[in-house]
Amino acid sequence: MYKYKEVSDGKYVLSLDNHVEVCEALSAFCKEKDIYAGAVYGLGAICEATFRFLDPATKQYVDKTFSEQMEITNLIGNISQKPGDPLTPYLHIHITASRRDYTCIGGHLLSARINGACELVVEDYRDVVLERYFDTQIGLNLYKF
Ligand code: FE
Repeated sequence: MYKYKEVSDGKYVLSLDNHVEVCEALSAFCKEKDIYAGAVYGLGAICEATFRFLDPATKQYVDKTFSEQMEITNLIGNISQKPGDPLTPYLHIHITASRRDYTCIGGHLLSARINGACELVVEDYRDVVLERYFDTQIGLNLYKF
């Protein structure tokens, strides 16, 4: 699903395999390396993606799928512990992608299928605990600090 190189202590450069789904591959990598606190950023090319938009009025996500070739102009996210399941990495990722006409779309990333390449940096904060709780007022899993 991916190849990687550790470039400094706890910092990895990843090359995801063509046609894999970004969140799936990233989750597998975090599980392999036991990363429960960290950051991710990168770029790439995708042919199908589903983005989410949280409607603050209803606290419901509205999902939309785009089936077209796009460049990931920015992917940024964080890694923490899944609420109630500390041994599962919880990925929170946002994405901006550019279309053939050079306009951009984006949102909270639910899934994205690579068509070309996807190059990411993953930083493992190691020994840091980043827990979350579900905030019922906002409707989001927030950091528990
Ligand atoms: Fe989000």
